[in-house]
Amino acid sequence: MAMRFCILGSGSSGNAALLVTEGARVLVDAGFSARKLAALLAAVGESLEKIDAVFLTHEHGDHAAGLDGLKKHPHIRVFANAATARTVQAGLSWRADWQVFETGARFRFRDLEVESFSVPHDAQEPVGFRFTTGRDGDLFAPRRSLVFLTDLGHAPQNVRERIRECEVVVVEANHCPELLKADSKRPWSIKQRISGRHGHLSNDATRELLADVASPHWRRVYLTHLSRDCNSPAAVEQALTGVRAALAACEFAVVGPGEGTPFYELA
Ligand SMILES: [Zn+2]
Ligand SMILES: [Zn+2]
Repeated sequence: MAMRFCILGSGSSGNAALLVTEGARVLVDAGFSARKLAALLAAVGESLEKIDAVFLTHEHGDHAAGLDGLKKHPHIRVFANAATARTVQAGLSWRADWQVFETGARFRFRDLEVESFSVPHDAQEPVGFRFTTGRDGDLFAPRRSLVFLTDLGHAPQNVRERIRECEVVVVEANHCPELLKADSKRPWSIKQRISGRHGHLSNDATRELLADVASPHWRRVYLTHLSRDCNSPAAVEQALTGVRAALAACEFAVVGPGEGTPFYELA
């Protein structure tokens, strides 16, 4: 088994995912209280004690709210770029063990090769991640990659290139444009922010991205960060119909708002 992966929770109320390899157990984002994170981990047979590191995509609360509660688990290293680290640290009551990287640089953490890349979103310096483990040509440790891509208003060329050569894609399908337009809870300015170039991908934008790249390497695509009010798993499924037919060998997992997933094992 090269890697195991699960979404602990996804949506505007909090985001966190768990990636486990032979040598590392890492969270991608920690947008729940430490207590809630502990409960979500326990539900999949894991615990905060066993987590080695957290990788932060950006400072928004639905991705970083759990950091303050991690003071009881100071062994957990926190990887972020300088702008994100500075912003999150300003709100903490303790000094996290920051491991600062430069956006775009590749580095290693245990048996993971980590690459971050910038994404267009209304945060300090938001990133997506590509995690790779294993070696070329090694049957016992095959090279496998997972790309994590949430919170972006559109998908520029650098993003499209990153998701081509990977087995697992985690991408947001944030809102259905019609449901967002019809929503009565949000003022116009917020709707503009969400649907803008530095907001979130709509179901249509995600469909366009997946159809454009449509990589034969993909084995599983997760659709995440669904808005509770302005999207639904059924709307995402409907938007993806054509892409699914074109990528028959790939599994699609639509993660409902507030939901997580069981472990997926990638051999
Ligand atoms: Zn965000
Ligand atoms: Zn978010």
